[in-house]
Amino acid sequence: MCKLNLRSLAEACFVRAKKLIAKGDEYSVRYACLELRFAMEYLIYQQMEYYKDELPDDAIKKWTPRQLISEMLTVDPYADQSSTIAIYPEKSSGEGGYRLGDDKRFTLKWANKNYNALSNFLHAANLHQLYSGNLHSHENILEKAQDIIKVIEDKFSSHIFGNNLGVFYNLECLCGRKFNRRQGSFREEDGIICPSCGAIHDIVRDDTAIGGKFSYKRRQILYKCLSCETDNYIDAHKISFGKIIVCTKCGNKVKIIFALEQLNGK
Ligand SMILES: [Zn+2]
Ligand SMILES: [Zn+2]
Repeated sequence: MCKLNLRSLAEACFVRAKKLIAKGDEYSVRYACLELRFAMEYLIYQQMEYYKDELPDDAIKKWTPRQLISEMLTVDPYADQSSTIAIYPEKSSGEGGYRLGDDKRFTLKWANKNYNALSNFLHAANLHQLYSGNLHSHENILEKAQDIIKVIEDKFSSHIFGNNLGVFYNLECLCGRKFNRRQGSFREEDGIICPSCGAIHDIVRDDTAIGGKFSYKRRQILYKCLSCETDNYIDAHKISFGKIIVCTKCGNKVKIIFALEQLNGK
C-alpha cells in the first residue's frame, strides 16, 4: 500500500504554528490555531492509513477527529490509546526485553475537545458574543494553543507510529475488496462484513484439521421458488423489506414482506 507522507505534512503545519505563536500578536495566534488543526488532522489521517484495510470505504471521506477516531475504535478498541512497543526473546516472561519506543496517540476525548476549542477561535464572534462582550481573549487563545502544542510536540518526540498489531482474518470479497478483520473485534454470529459492499461472511472451522484450519462462507438464505421449486440463494445482506427476488430458473418474481405470525395457538 502506498502511504502518503502525512507525518511530514503534519510536521510542516506544526512548525508554521509555532512560528506564528512566537510572533505573539492576535492575528498570528489565530492562524496558528488553523495550522494546529491541520496538524491534528494529518496525524490522525496518518494513523488511519494503518487501519484502512479494516475500515468501511466511506471512513476515509471523514475529517473530524471525533469521526475518524470513532471509526478506528469500531475495529480496534485500543485505537485511541498510546502504547509501548518492545521486543522480547521468545518464551520470555518479560525479562531481557528491548524497548523500541512509544506509539503516542490522541484519545478520542482529548482530540475532540481540543479540535473543537481550536475551531471556536476560527470564526468571527457571533452577535450574542458581540452584544454580551463574552469574547475569546487573546490570552485564552494563546494559552489553549500552547497547551495543544505541548501535546503535539510530545507525539513528534517518538519515532514509533502507525502500529496496528493484532491477529487478523484476511478476506477477499466477491466484490473484489480485500480487507482485514481483527480477531475479537466482532461477534461471530454477526459475521465479518465487507467494508465495501456489506456482504456477510461466516467463519467455517474445520475442527478435524491440524492447526484448526478455517475458511469463509458468504452468508446466504435458501429460498425455494414458489413456482418451479428451484433452490435460489439470496445474499443475507441484500434481504430488505419490499425487495423483489427473481427465480434464476423460471424468472418468477416474489417480494419480501414482513408478516405477523400468531403465537400461543390463538
Ligand atoms: Zn464486498
Ligand atoms: Zn422458479
